[in-house]
Amino acid sequence: MRLALHWQILITMILGAALGLTLNATSGRQKTGQTAEFPAGSVQLIGMSAAIQVEAGKIWSLDTTERILIQLESSVESDQPTTQRLVVGDERFVAKQRAAQGEPWPETEGGKKIIRDVVPTLGKLKSKHPVAYAAFMQNGRSSARVIGDLAKVFGDLFLRMLKMISVPLIVASLLSGITGLGRAERLGKMFGRTLLYYLVTSMLAIVAGLLVVNLINPGVTAGAEKIAAPVAEVAQQHGKNLSVVLFEQLQNMIPPNPFEALAKGKFLSIIAFTIAIGVCTILVGGTVAEKVNELVDAAFQVMMKLTTLIIRLAPIGVFFLMLSVTATQGAGIFGTLGWYMLSVACALAIHALVVLPLILHFVAKRSPLEFAKAMSPALLTAFSSASSNGTLPLTLTCVEERAKVSNRVSSFVLPLGATINMDGTALYEVVAVLFIAQVSGIDLSLTEQIIVAFTALLASIGAAGIPHAGLVMMVIILQAVGLPTESQGLIIAVDRVLDMCRTSVNVWSDSCGCAVVSRFEA
Ligand code: ASP
Repeated sequence: MRLALHWQILITMILGAALGLTLNATSGRQKTGQTAEFPAGSVQLIGMSAAIQVEAGKIWSLDTTERILIQLESSVESDQPTTQRLVVGDERFVAKQRAAQGEPWPETEGGKKIIRDVVPTLGKLKSKHPVAYAAFMQNGRSSARVIGDLAKVFGDLFLRMLKMISVPLIVASLLSGITGLGRAERLGKMFGRTLLYYLVTSMLAIVAGLLVVNLINPGVTAGAEKIAAPVAEVAQQHGKNLSVVLFEQLQNMIPPNPFEALAKGKFLSIIAFTIAIGVCTILVGGTVAEKVNELVDAAFQVMMKLTTLIIRLAPIGVFFLMLSVTATQGAGIFGTLGWYMLSVACALAIHALVVLPLILHFVAKRSPLEFAKAMSPALLTAFSSASSNGTLPLTLTCVEERAKVSNRVSSFVLPLGATINMDGTALYEVVAVLFIAQVSGIDLSLTEQIIVAFTALLASIGAAGIPHAGLVMMVIILQAVGLPTESQGLIIAVDRVLDMCRTSVNVWSDSCGCAVVSRFEA
């Protein structure tokens, strides 16, 4: 007997996490015994666009889950002997060390110039200090990291497949859905209902977030000693004005070159243009509309076939993704900032397990349990990939084939929802911003909380369905109420786990939307 797909995914996810955590605990630490010599040569690893030329030198490194220390010495024959001391991780660690050892740190040592730097992630190290990155990847990684990196390569293959299918699937699906509607006025009604659903559920999610954060007060409980958080790099780069962001969204809906939008995978542009083409097909009507409908229907069936085949691989993909996250980041990914995470989790649970099921039961007249069962492969993939867009092919298949919602509804509600309906993200924004305010010792008045709620709604509409999009959009809200954007550094560490949870809620809400809209379709 074959296990149902969602059980397969759940089991492989748990197995991946268990294996990753064990690896991290047993072999997550690696120290190059003495300074290891490495020869000159060219290094090319998977994920590098070009080979890196490395001069001969010596490396000493310490790889742990929390941070990586690298010391790189150029060879003695070099014209300008230097020693690079690099830290990958938290700046606070360096600040503490500096305070303990006294300043200023020497700039030369044994005739060698010392270059120091702190970068937040290995990705940054790769772009900023490619030679040190290459040397570390070859000589200094712990076994847990080696295995985690390898697992990521395989997990990414699965995500690539999902990405590959998403644009053609959305276009075919939207077109076949809209042209299948037949008459323009039916589309208008569905559009209205869909938007109303998006708006109402996002606001309900925000209310749940506000209630929970005011009840638990995570920032007060966590203590204020963490305010001196490192400056968040993302925050600095993306700090844009709210009106600018919204106007950009409007611009995105009018792609000057639709083919470029298709090629670059700009979802909002693609959706807007496809809807326009679909609507015009209906307006032209007659045999033309029939022919187009036949064609896009055929295309849609082929895309669905391909999607179904890719989805069979989900258990393997999810296993590798979980393994890579837990092997490299350890249990810490689930542990720190407990109260804050608990608040987000509680609010998400209220929305996903109480509010949305009630809507399903009373408005859509469907059994929440059955519906959740049908959607489980999509929800679990959303959890492990933290991307609504990435999960979209799976969401579409589940809603249509397992939950038996008509393609007309799902092909309209889901692609649009993956981009603009993000209940989980809206809720998370509210909790995170209020948490930051509490930790910073700033009391937000009711009016300010309402501003937070409103901007969170807009930020969730503007956020893309990709990992960490919500974190980037948060700057807008922080600026709206005058909170220090640097404090975001505090929550970056745990963003991945929360991202996984909120993405599942985003996908769950989109799916419930299909059930609600389809109830009024008949
Ligand atoms: N990762 C989320 C999603 O894809 C967006 C977010 O970061 O909140 O739905």
